Amino acid sequence: MGFCISCGQQHQDGIRFCRFCGNQQPGDQLLARLRQEAEQIHYMRLQAQALAQQQQQQQQQYQQNQYNQQPRW
Ligand SMILES: [Zn+2]
Repeated sequence: MGFCISCGQQHQDGIRFCRFCGNQQPGDQLLARLRQEAEQIHYMRLQAQALAQQQQQQQQQYQQNQYNQQPRW
């Protein structure tokens, strides 16, 4: 089952046009492309998160080093 991208009515899978409003529905190719794009966005987000974590860790290490370099009386 799918839903019309235009009017939101439920219709059978695999149809090319909505029987309620007549709008063309996305085909398998388009759905596959959209899915791929969504995966890419998800992957990019994961990468950005990993990078942010790395930077945070580096900052913490830097602060620790500075602390270690301070003379202790
Ligand atoms: Zn429709």
